[in-house]
Amino acid sequence: MEKQNDQSRMDRIVSLAKRRGFIFQSSEIYGGLNGFWDYGPLGVALKRNLKDCWWRDMVAGHDELATIQGAPSPYEMAGLDCTIIMHPQVWKCSGHFDLFHDWMIDCRESKRRYRYDHLNGRWAAHRGKKVFVTTDQSGDEAPPSIAAKAQKFFGLRAKQVDEIEWSGDLGSLAAAVASGVLTLADALGPDAAAPGTLTEPREFNLMFETRIGALAGNDDDRAFLRPETAQGIFVNFKNVVDTSRVRVPFGIGQIGKSFRNEITPRNFTFRSREFEQMEIEFFCRPAESAEWYRYWRDRRWKWYLDLGLTEGKLQLREHDKDELSHYSVGTADIEYAFPFLAAGEFGELEGIAHRGDFDLRSHMEGKLVRKDGALVVETGDDGKPRHRGSGKDLSYFDDISRERYVPHVIEPSAGADRAVLAFLCDAYHEDEVPDEDGKPRSRTVMKLHPRLAPVKAAILPLVKKDGMPEVAIDLYRALKPHMACQYDEKGSVGRRYARQDEAGTPWCLTIDGQTLADKTVTLRDRDTLVQTRVPVGEVVHMLRDRLA
Ligand code: ATP
Repeated sequence: MEKQNDQSRMDRIVSLAKRRGFIFQSSEIYGGLNGFWDYGPLGVALKRNLKDCWWRDMVAGHDELATIQGAPSPYEMAGLDCTIIMHPQVWKCSGHFDLFHDWMIDCRESKRRYRYDHLNGRWAAHRGKKVFVTTDQSGDEAPPSIAAKAQKFFGLRAKQVDEIEWSGDLGSLAAAVASGVLTLADALGPDAAAPGTLTEPREFNLMFETRIGALAGNDDDRAFLRPETAQGIFVNFKNVVDTSRVRVPFGIGQIGKSFRNEITPRNFTFRSREFEQMEIEFFCRPAESAEWYRYWRDRRWKWYLDLGLTEGKLQLREHDKDELSHYSVGTADIEYAFPFLAAGEFGELEGIAHRGDFDLRSHMEGKLVRKDGALVVETGDDGKPRHRGSGKDLSYFDDISRERYVPHVIEPSAGADRAVLAFLCDAYHEDEVPDEDGKPRSRTVMKLHPRLAPVKAAILPLVKKDGMPEVAIDLYRALKPHMACQYDEKGSVGRRYARQDEAGTPWCLTIDGQTLADKTVTLRDRDTLVQTRVPVGEVVHMLRDRLA
């Protein structure tokens, strides 16, 4: 079976991303900051193109008069741009203040911190010594990692590893502790030399905290950086209904930064502490919500395919009942087989959740919990709401059917950075092309969809004389108002093609001797390498049509 986890391929993608200016480590000259990433000149263009595609395809370009295939009816879309810091009560009512946490565990010896649910382990024994060896690796990587740690712990040479006696299956440390088969004192931490250095797990809220105002100091000044963009949409639901002419069913889209103080950021930009989300909250009649949920799940799946992600590397996974949040009626994840994951493992790109009326009711009534199958306001020991809602009426009045109800919500929630990473991984190819002398030359090429490509076309005069640069500059100036393009006259044409291939530029236009005679240029296709001659006057139209 083909091994999917290809760390060396991933390393080459990361190195290209850095070398060509797609993605840099944040604050790199100071040693970097874990979990934070900057987008370089090519990266910012790629990410902007991705967000523009989403905004155009989902929000601005939506045809509200048509019934899109699979949709129960026509619907409207509106946009919004909310603040990162919101009233602290927002997070209390949404549940993030009490519940948005992970369990972390520290190692007193290595001073490293792990997510408790990410540690796996197995019992190992050698000559009367027994220890539960742990690793923070998962999937295919976990067994060799455990074996290497056990070998080191028992002080064995490579040829002695067969002397280790293993017992029990490799599994979650947390589950083993919960079932009582071991205590943390028996566990050898992933980076420790002796057992018993792991601390008791502690809860850790993932929201970044800050203080508002110059005289900040008491609890009333505490505020949080939003961990998702969604809540800004819910608290503005009434504003949008009252000020625009939208009628249910309709959706509100927002793109913006979110922050999560992830315990172990890793896998390049996949798990970052600052990232961007592209979220839609879609409001519909409760009776139609199941149909809308299916529509959005399928629509979002198709969006990734239309932009060129390889279907065989994508997976649409419906959550099992026991995976669903207490308020969710259904959730599906769109996942991608990233090269840093073990074979058969997928990483989430987007979640599509049927959230019922949980969010709007939470902001009306206060933080909700499920009791005897129903959502009710959580109360404290004094019988009062634990976190009081806004008290504002967020129900919707349908003036045609004369009904009042709290709309149900379908939420397609995507990560812009994870999508960029998936498109980068998917686009990365290594192949061979003939050079100018017809000899095979290996090349790295980013086969990005033209809509996503940072540069759409490169204009290359074959030589820097004979009037070729002048024709090329005229073409560059004609094309530039319509699309991102570059003029490049430096180096051999082969090297210039190679530079553009690495940047993912779909089309190269070469001005040569024949151009001067018949006013045609060579159009080279990045993926097929087919070269065709095109009248110079038709280039702008032709490329605009291809991008439309
Ligand atoms: P995960 O389980 O991987 O932490 P999640 O289920 O918590 O993700 P959601 O809360 O559903 O994620 O957020 C919606 C989307 O936001 C995710 O599908 C992902 O694309 C993006 N996202 C969430 N957390 C991060 C992160 N730390 N770094 C980058 N993108 C993220």
